[in-house]
Amino acid sequence: MDIERFRIPEKKALDLGEHPTDFTGDYIAKEQAEKDLKSNIKRLRKLQDVLFADNKHSLLIIFQAMDAAGKDGAIKHVMSGVNPQGTQVFSFKKPSPEELDHGYLWRCAKSAPERGRIGIFNRSYYEDVLVVRVHPVILESSPLPTDIKKDPDIWQKRFGQISNFEKYLTENGTKVIKFYLNVSKEEQKRRFIARIDTPEKNWKFSDADVRERSFWDEYQDAYREAIGATSTEASPWYVMPADRKWYTRLAVSEVICQTLESMGLEYPAVGEDHLKMLAESKDQLIIED
Ligand code: ATP
Ligand code: MG
Repeated sequence: MDIERFRIPEKKALDLGEHPTDFTGDYIAKEQAEKDLKSNIKRLRKLQDVLFADNKHSLLIIFQAMDAAGKDGAIKHVMSGVNPQGTQVFSFKKPSPEELDHGYLWRCAKSAPERGRIGIFNRSYYEDVLVVRVHPVILESSPLPTDIKKDPDIWQKRFGQISNFEKYLTENGTKVIKFYLNVSKEEQKRRFIARIDTPEKNWKFSDADVRERSFWDEYQDAYREAIGATSTEASPWYVMPADRKWYTRLAVSEVICQTLESMGLEYPAVGEDHLKMLAESKDQLIIED
């Protein structure tokens, strides 16, 4: 699969209209995509095993999207085959008072993956240039100094801070990739109605979801600017078509596999002494009564 079509090049203004939400590539039916997802899950398991053994690099995967775009399902399906010991998932909601007492990167920096691990952020510091931008009252009521809250360049500055943070992570062994699950407004409506109509899905729906939907255009603008300003060669954004969940999951798994494959991971080399120790230990085990 050519994943380049989803990647947002550095320093290029983003036009979300160029990214069809219902794209499914060569896949017509979900059966073929599900089969290929299964084989990608196996591929991912092997790559994660090397990442873990190597214990030098880590991978941070960020998911951002409108409600019901399929973040939870993508995380659940794509990561279903990997070793739980090597994976860490964090969800970022409305900040707590303690979190608000620190800079907005703090809670995420604390949760960045350890060496050898895959870290997943379900929402992230990008919320601080998305929901906080769409709803000015959040910034107004935050405990930041007034001159910072009133700075007309606050968003540009935050894009710079985020890019610097991701550069810092990259230059210390953590590869960062970002997914925007690009769902259409019509598909979101269908999924909300399904959540209301299906008793097992009722828990997933909240009236806040409909409230946020009424800010659809403002969110699209905020996403467009944030993604355009923070996609870099080292830490790219991928805009993933999200109207067909089966295709989203397959394409996300492909980007993750290709990213890990590009990281030059290797099992640690075993030296002469270690090989000698292995042979001696085996002899000892064989002669044991
Ligand atoms: P689900 O798919 O289950 O709805 P979710 O990620 O939408 O998952 P919710 O508990 O519904 O989880 O929503 C979390 C909310 O927290 C989102 O509306 C998000 O915009 C908000 N949020 C996250 N970070 C911040 C932040 N820094 N400031 C204000 N709100 C935030
Ligand atoms: Mg929600």
